[in-house]
Parts: sequence; structure tokens; C-alpha cells
Amino acid sequence: MIITLQGICYDEKSSFLKGPAKAPPLIREFLYSDSSNAFTELGFNTQTIDFNDVGDFYPIEYFDIQQITKQNCSTDSKLITLGGDHSITYPMLKAYSAVKGPFEILQIDAHGDLYNNFEGDPHSHACPFARIMEEKLASKLTQVGGRTYTQHQYEQAEKFAVEIHEMKDYDLQKLSFSKPLYISLDMDGFDPAYAPGVSHHEPGGFTSRQVVDIIHSIDVEIIGADIVEYNPDRDVQGITGALAAKVLKEIIGKMV
Ligand code: MN
Ligand code: MN
Repeated sequence: MIITLQGICYDEKSSFLKGPAKAPPLIREFLYSDSSNAFTELGFNTQTIDFNDVGDFYPIEYFDIQQITKQNCSTDSKLITLGGDHSITYPMLKAYSAVKGPFEILQIDAHGDLYNNFEGDPHSHACPFARIMEEKLASKLTQVGGRTYTQHQYEQAEKFAVEIHEMKDYDLQKLSFSKPLYISLDMDGFDPAYAPGVSHHEPGGFTSRQVVDIIHSIDVEIIGADIVEYNPDRDVQGITGALAAKVLKEIIGKMV
């Protein structure tokens, strides 16, 4: 089984700070760094997989992301995308869902990203899951780690039948998924103490251990993933980059 890895260096839809466009080559550096080995915690050697790293892409227009992904994905491989801000997930899944859908999505995020539009932009990084659910690019969406829901976002969640596990109510035992599953990991789902390198610091989030445990607990087939919103400009000593690479490695181990 082949895993394709693409980097989408794009942060034009970030509402607060730029920076995530710089993330993909840095996450790769941490993934291949000699500071750690290639084994996952569950004992899988990630060097043994058929890895198709197609490199980093620099979209000019938003929907270039759809075209880039369409060229990179295929029915006989699984896709991992390094972002970029979270807006990339919508055009990327427009392409990937056409090839590998239908699938469910697990979104780990401090935010719902369900706004109908944000400051007038329907493609803001605060909106991708509204677009994804409107176009039925996923059969179901489960959000965990949220701690910023507004009345509007609750209404949107109800409209799209989103299953919400807010951080304040979080219980690993209550999560269950159907196959195939796609994981969208926004680095701000972590508490900023564990992941300071994000644009939106939202205290009260996941520890590194909790997110690794979520990934390990998934007992259905994982057919794809993205890791988004790592902002190297805000990082401290590479803490967040190393965490992104660690989680990426654990996801790869579970995908195979
Ligand atoms: Mn997000
Ligand atoms: Mn977020």
C-alpha cells in the first residue's frame, strides 16, 4: 500500500496571522530528523512503507489546491497532506473525495471551522467544514477538542448533523468511527502549552498524549489525513514542529 505525501504551502485564508505556508518543509525535516527513530509507539517501522513524497506545492489561487491534489492522488494510494492553514482541507477534499469517497472525517481542532462565511469570505480557514458538509464531501463529521463554539456554529453543526465532542466534555470512550475514516488535525487542538506554534492560542486543549491516544484508539481503516495550522513563526525551539511530525508518524503507522 502506497502513502502519498503532499505539502500545500498556503495561508492566504488565515484570518489573524500568516505563517502556516512555511510549515510543510519543516514538518518533513522533523519527520526525517536524527533526533528520533522511525518506529511508532505501536512498534511499526515507518521506513518500511512505500512512501511517495511528491514534495511541496505553492498554490497561487485557492482552487489550485484542488487541481494539485487531483494530480497527486489516486485510487491505489492513501493521501497525507501537510498544510497550510485549515482552508486547504476543502479544495483538497473536493479532489480526494471524488477519488476515495465516501468517508467520514475526524476533525481535531479548538475550533468548529463551520462559519457560513468569515469576514465576508466563504473560503476563510474558519469555514472549510461548512463547505465540505454542504457539498457532502464526507458522510459524517466528528469534531473533538472544540472550545470556541458560537451560537452560529452550533446552528451550523445541527444543520450538518456534526457530532461534537467539546473539550469540556471530552471522553475517549465516547468516540467511535466507521470506516473509512479521514483525519483532519488542526495543531491548535492541542493546548498551546504543548503546541505554541499556532496562530490562535486557545488554552484548555489536548495534551500530546491525549491526541496520540485518540489515534491509537482508532480501530477502523484510515484512508487519509491532513496536519494543518502549524505556524513556525510562533514556535518555541521547534516544539510544535516536532509534535506535528510525531503525530504524523503515529498516523502513518495506523494507516498501513
Ligand atoms: Mn481548524
Ligand atoms: Mn483551529
